[in-house]
Amino acid sequence: MSRNLITELQARGLRLADPSDGAPSRRGGAGPSDHKAVTVDGRTVMVPVHTSGAAASPFAVRALGDDGFAVLERDGVAVARISFPPSPRFYALATDDGVPYWKIAQLHGRDVLATTVLQDCIRYTNEKTRCQFCAIGASLEGGRTIARKTPAQLAAVAKAAVELDAVKHAVLTTGTPNGTDRGAAVLCESAAAIKAAVALPIQAQCEPPDDFAWFARLRAAGVDALGMHLEAVEPDVRARAMPGKAKVPVSYYLSAFASAVAVFGRGQVSTYVIAGLGDTADAIVAMCETLVALGVYPFVVPLVPIAGTRLEAATPPSPAFMRDLLGRVGTLLVRANLVSADIKAGCGKCGACSSLSVFETA
Ligand code: SF4
Repeated sequence: MSRNLITELQARGLRLADPSDGAPSRRGGAGPSDHKAVTVDGRTVMVPVHTSGAAASPFAVRALGDDGFAVLERDGVAVARISFPPSPRFYALATDDGVPYWKIAQLHGRDVLATTVLQDCIRYTNEKTRCQFCAIGASLEGGRTIARKTPAQLAAVAKAAVELDAVKHAVLTTGTPNGTDRGAAVLCESAAAIKAAVALPIQAQCEPPDDFAWFARLRAAGVDALGMHLEAVEPDVRARAMPGKAKVPVSYYLSAFASAVAVFGRGQVSTYVIAGLGDTADAIVAMCETLVALGVYPFVVPLVPIAGTRLEAATPPSPAFMRDLLGRVGTLLVRANLVSADIKAGCGKCGACSSLSVFETA
């Protein structure tokens, strides 16, 4: 699949006659959502299917054939053969007290186990502090997850996902529970429990904690890679799109990045940058230059306007904007030899929420 087609598909979304085709799509939750895993040419990418933009997309799917493949059409013209990853086997299991494993963790992309350990955030309940793009409470309200995943639950699900579905790495993210460790403590106990049950590379994701000693604790608990997510880069965009989180200045993130790279290694610390919140391409590229110089992988993703969030009616960035931006960031990454293939675990390695990795070519 060409990089242009992936970029356009992620920007425009996909109309599905039957959204239940293949693996379940994700609605709500932390981070990018309202999308579905689609496999083309052996590459699995997440494509918006539940957003308002997707309903008007030029891309549509002609029904799945008996061979499991479907035809992707743009404006009624066939452009590729695609398939949907099947529902993972571990989704059929449940804990002894009846919690389905799929409510504890989900398959992301092709081979990633992903969970939001704490499905709550100090910033979410208040409109004045909530990130405008986040739907962490929506999947909880919809009964599609549980509020707190215990270490024992996570260990059991991770073991099953590795054994039954050949999952290769895991993402543990969390809402921010407090202003001190910001979730690092629960991530430590979760990672330790998983590592005691199964050998699975783990990325943890949280806000920068108050004490950078947490980085060594996370590493000792079995975390292989760390994500701390800037999301937006320009001060006015940060203040508007993430009024609570923007109180943590970019300078503090940069200090935390430097400290974390010293613990996890160059390229094993990453950050999300969401294109489409209002930052210019030049501002994002300038920030990526700073991050790359620190040894931080900038995972630049297009905004997916999630239903039920303040940004649900926002227009995602255009394919042309994303092509230009990802081309420039990809060049930076290749020059610095800081590429997704070398990441041990996490979103940058998975790469399904952005076409950035296909721009990592010399
Ligand atoms: S990039 Fe991250 S959020 Fe997106 S599908 Fe992969 S693991 Fe999930």
